[in-house]
Amino acid sequence: MRNPPAPDISGSYVRYDVPLSSLVTWGVGGAARIMFVPRTEDEMSGAVSWARSNGEDFFVLGGGSNVLISDAAFDIPVINTAGMSAITVRERGDTVYMDCLAGTPMKEVLALAAKNGWSGLECAAGIPGTVGGAVAGNAGSKTGSIGSSVELIVTVEPDGSRAEWNGKDIGWGYRSCSLFEGEHRIAQNVTFRTKASSRDEVARLTAETMRGRKSQPVSSRTAGCVFKNPNGESAGNLLDRSGCKGMSVGGARVSESHANFIENHSGSARDIMSLALLCRKKVLDEFGTYLDFEVKMAGVWEVCPDAGE
Ligand SMILES: Cc1cc2nc3c(=O)[nH]c(=O)nc-3n(C[C@H](O)[C@H](O)[C@H](O)COP(=O)(O)OP(=O)(O)OC[C@H]3O[C@@H](n4cnc5c(N)ncnc54)[C@H](O)[C@@H]3O)c2cc1C
Repeated sequence: MRNPPAPDISGSYVRYDVPLSSLVTWGVGGAARIMFVPRTEDEMSGAVSWARSNGEDFFVLGGGSNVLISDAAFDIPVINTAGMSAITVRERGDTVYMDCLAGTPMKEVLALAAKNGWSGLECAAGIPGTVGGAVAGNAGSKTGSIGSSVELIVTVEPDGSRAEWNGKDIGWGYRSCSLFEGEHRIAQNVTFRTKASSRDEVARLTAETMRGRKSQPVSSRTAGCVFKNPNGESAGNLLDRSGCKGMSVGGARVSESHANFIENHSGSARDIMSLALLCRKKVLDEFGTYLDFEVKMAGVWEVCPDAGE
């Protein structure tokens, strides 16, 4: 087993041969040969600089609730944001800014906002994962997307330096954020903008969001919606009408309650990928619509996720 030397960094936040299956909600994936779990801004920059100076690519892991990691060993360094979790608050009139380190669970951010009656983030109610993952994928629901509440993002750039980005200058799309499209930068700190409101109002808006996710299978191992909705159509609806509900490959099964969710019942990443590609083919054959993945693929695949076969 190859343990890359890490000459420029202190060892305490570097780990070797870490099984990724325990860090992702689908519960599958091979081991990371090297994982950085930075606890400070300097350690995060150090991890990026180290990867760069060693000619290595890297993968950023947040809460692992939107990724499919292959069964094979993960050769490129993983930077896991779990060690960077904190929220600080600044109030300016009735605007409340919540400064969050990227590894902070969104659940904690929403709980603090709900407790104090700060409104603006309710569209992310019930979405697992971290602050970094939420902004990287512009997470949201029928009631809105998180990007509209982002005031500022501080990133670690591909060369290890830091940059600041105003939320309004960032290109927010459907489950996408221009900052992280094809760029190797990491969200290190995110400032959310909320409004002082009332606990009752926040609870009302939260309940509205939660109503829209009643059909999601929350007690199974999933990674949320597998595919994006194509051109305003519901991917779940197309998958359902193509007969995908209940289909299975090995230990992976399409949820009976929501056809865009794949449940893992002791299967492998390969089972999940094979089932997803089968579902995509069924929709293509039935409706001529090609579904793009919403979940992010990482690792090494024998089948190409974009090949549609
Ligand atoms: C039951 C369930 C329900 C869900 N419902 C929804 C929903 O309603 N709406 C929705 O939008 N999503 C939903 N999801 C998907 C998922 O929870 C979100 O996409 C979430 O925001 C991902 O955050 P994460 O921290 O888990 O990211 P990860 O899965 O760890 O990573 C996702 C992507 O973000 C990148 N990333 C993570 N952190 C950073 C960072 N700090 N800087 C740069 N890039 C980073 C990763 O490299 C990867 O490409 C659901 C998932 C589950 C399991």
